[in-house]
Amino acid sequence: MKQIPLLINGEFVASKSQHMLDVTNPADNQVIAQVPYASTSEMDAAVASAKEAFATWRNVPVSERARLMMRYQALLKQHHDEIAEVLSQETGKTFDDAKGDVWRGIEVVEQAMNIPSLLMGETVENVARGIDTYSYTQPLGVCAGITPFNFPAMIPLWMFPLAIAAGNTFVLKPSEQDPMTPTRLAELFLEAGAPKGLLNVVHGGAQQVDHLLHHPDIKAVSFVGSVPVGQHIYKTATDNMKRAQCFAGAKNHSVIMPDANKAQVLNNLVGASVGAAGQRCMAISVAVFVGEAKDWIPELADMIGKVRPGLWNDKQAGFGPLISPRARDRVLSMIEQGKAEGANCLVDGSGFTLPGHESGNWVGPTVFSEVSEEMSIYKEEIFGPVLCCMAVDELEDAIALVNRNPYGNGTSIFTASGAAARKYQHEIEVGQVGINVPIPVPLPFFSFTGWKNSFYGDLHAYGKQAVRFYTETKTITSRWFEDDIPHGPNMTISLR
Ligand code: NAD
Repeated sequence: MKQIPLLINGEFVASKSQHMLDVTNPADNQVIAQVPYASTSEMDAAVASAKEAFATWRNVPVSERARLMMRYQALLKQHHDEIAEVLSQETGKTFDDAKGDVWRGIEVVEQAMNIPSLLMGETVENVARGIDTYSYTQPLGVCAGITPFNFPAMIPLWMFPLAIAAGNTFVLKPSEQDPMTPTRLAELFLEAGAPKGLLNVVHGGAQQVDHLLHHPDIKAVSFVGSVPVGQHIYKTATDNMKRAQCFAGAKNHSVIMPDANKAQVLNNLVGASVGAAGQRCMAISVAVFVGEAKDWIPELADMIGKVRPGLWNDKQAGFGPLISPRARDRVLSMIEQGKAEGANCLVDGSGFTLPGHESGNWVGPTVFSEVSEEMSIYKEEIFGPVLCCMAVDELEDAIALVNRNPYGNGTSIFTASGAAARKYQHEIEVGQVGINVPIPVPLPFFSFTGWKNSFYGDLHAYGKQAVRFYTETKTITSRWFEDDIPHGPNMTISLR
């Protein structure tokens, strides 16, 4: 059985740990590899390697660091489809969706290629007579990243390329459910010429993460995953005096105004709700129909009901299986709860299975209407191919509903009215807003800006905010004397 290696000090090594977890193909639950839970000494070796590499890497010219990213970007593009195939096998994602996962990661590497401009500080000449002030951004040291299962290419690539381009070194702990894709990303990083120790990859679960969170040589922690784990990681990291950014769960609403283009709304909502089996943190899981737009719900349900799950290489498949039997059982139990709580199940995917692949983690597309705020299918993140439809009278009611929700990752509004769109974008308490765009994931020259329970921290992923997250600012005030000091000792705090 293939064992996923650790990457320590520039070498892929087999873990000596006896504790292994099966990596499975979600379409049939066949074991395709085993992933180790790294031992404490292996974890320490990874951090020590990153620490040693930092001493040299921080002094490597920024243009050389950018060139490493250029070579890496070229290799990722060259191996794009092959990475996507590995990704499909361990996540069950359709090939097209897997390619999107890889591509959105490559876009962040492209941003990292621009690191010289991103690191520029500020200067002001003559802040006082003969005195100039200027600032530099300097790397922090060893940074750690803990990533979820649902984007095994994109989310690791949100983290280590920018951190490393900024002069840091990195220890990545990918999801134990799909570690093959991050391993391939790391292989290509070495092939691009990354010196040893820049990127280390360790595997495991809670215990390995906690070790990183308590390790004195880790300076900053980036996390993406569920709310309870995000809260735990943010608290533990900051209690241990580390910088932390933790991206967590979501419940994203799309608001549909009656003046919107119906065909565009329905087509967009199908993919945004059940695409990737609903396992996207920016998936639309609640559709809020305003006024007469509620009459479109049966047609939307009909369209969603026609989406067929299937294997990764089936071009007709709308989405694949869920990641694990546990994830499937949880989604099935949420669907049952929705029915028991009185929601109207217009499309029920709980009985779906793929003929010939009955042992896979299948759930078919599911649509509920008459969902209310008290129901658990509304309150909890389902993370499955389930759309909850709600109806309200006015735009104000929709805004109030979305703002009462404790999550704030993404939202969208469909309308033909600029005034309604402007009101929504201004008043909504959610970090990423789409106007006639269902899943508004920003490109990497902006930042990924979830709010409320979808994010714990201050500085967000990628864009200028990530560069600030992975650096310290040093501000220098300098004077070069031409003559003797003219006025004798300065006993004040003023610059003169
Ligand atoms: P998860 O929280 O179960 O796991 C994420 C990572 O944390 C994994 O690497 C895992 O090994 C580690 N982990 C798990 N339990 C831990 C513990 N007790 N202590 C320390 N580390 C622990 O999340 P998941 O199921 O892999 O991913 C799905 C979740 O991620 C969903 O809630 C989704 O909304 C969220 N997500 C959010 C974003 C975002 O940008 N906001 C993006 C993608 C996914």
